[in-house]
Amino acid sequence: MEIDADRLRRDIERNAEHGEIEVDEGRGRTVLTGTDANRAAREMLVERMEDVGLDVTVDAVGNVAGTWVPESADPDAAPVAAGSHVDSVPEGGIFDGPLGVYAALEAVRAMQDAGVEPSRPLVVVSFTEEEGQRFADGLLGSSVAVGERSVEEALAIKDEEGISLEESLERIGFRGEGRLDAGDWEAWYELHVEQDTQLERESVPVGVVTTITGITHCEAEIVGEANHAGATAMDERTDALAAASEVVLDVEAAANDVVESESETAVGTVGSLSVSPNATNVVPGKVEMGVDIRDVEYQSMQTIVEATRSSLAIVEADRGVETSFSRPFDLEPTPMSESLRAAAHRAGEEAGIRTMDLHSGAAHDTMHVADVTEAALLFAPSADGISHNPREWTDWDDCASAARVLAGAMAESAGADVAGE
Ligand SMILES: [Zn+2]
Repeated sequence: MEIDADRLRRDIERNAEHGEIEVDEGRGRTVLTGTDANRAAREMLVERMEDVGLDVTVDAVGNVAGTWVPESADPDAAPVAAGSHVDSVPEGGIFDGPLGVYAALEAVRAMQDAGVEPSRPLVVVSFTEEEGQRFADGLLGSSVAVGERSVEEALAIKDEEGISLEESLERIGFRGEGRLDAGDWEAWYELHVEQDTQLERESVPVGVVTTITGITHCEAEIVGEANHAGATAMDERTDALAAASEVVLDVEAAANDVVESESETAVGTVGSLSVSPNATNVVPGKVEMGVDIRDVEYQSMQTIVEATRSSLAIVEADRGVETSFSRPFDLEPTPMSESLRAAAHRAGEEAGIRTMDLHSGAAHDTMHVADVTEAALLFAPSADGISHNPREWTDWDDCASAARVLAGAMAESAGADVAGE
């Protein structure tokens, strides 16, 4: 079974023309759900799927699925699905999402060309609004496909201008029928760009994700007393920002400690500070901070959360500020299917392509799909780890290698005898 590297490249480059933006360096695109660029990208995908005989369906929230039922397959058997998304962040790159969709399609075409005989149907999928840049917070289409969110609830979500997802999909002709149900799938594979440098550092073209990181978001408020920066003596102040600064450094130190002692993949970030009144001549009266904590081990996430809380207690006692703390978002780490991971490594071995285990620090649709069926996530290298940026880059050779591993793993899960060829 051979991947046609040029065909895959042509698809990704053609897709990159939709929503293309002018940039000084690299190649960028803006493809938000329900826009004309999104319509064009979706129409191209449907056309490519139909070109090779896939039966295309669009569900009520715009998830696109193209099904290949080979003659060798039992049409009623649970299919093996693979894909990703075609939407992007504003001024995003050309690989994040489309690589996974078009590599899955290329995998099907490679099986067709090689006369591989799967005993299960294969489905190529593009989920709606993965990036969450116009509606909701992301992973929207997959949240509906796993039953976590209802079709009605998703369709009613409005963008900042008050336009609903339903209206926006209707406008571009992609408000379909029914609900794509990931629970019907035998297995799910997603190939994605790594967005980190683990593969690049090891010079390995394909990563097999062991666990998708858990994510916790904490919010803290520190209240001191706003006062005149000139007339308030140093010993009469309750400076909320000075207190917050200690907390920022404590979160960093706690994450570093956890990396040393518990789990080297842990990260902790104070990513946002809102200072009020935020005036040069006023002692800061209040600070709101947002903390992002992630790891593949839930226990080490808890350790950093606890360290954040005790840091807040310390500045209360030492500096006389008042603090409050909440944890509005908490998602535990998602381990990937061991049997599918093994299939991916085997596919690499058979094709003479090196693979390695790694973890994912970013969230993906596969997190949702893993709740309802066996799921695996493969990575292709990202140059310098850059993504969500026109400078995002994956070498075409690496795209082809990753697609080849994806194809081998999909074929094995679909019951095709590829090793014997
Ligand atoms: Zn993505």
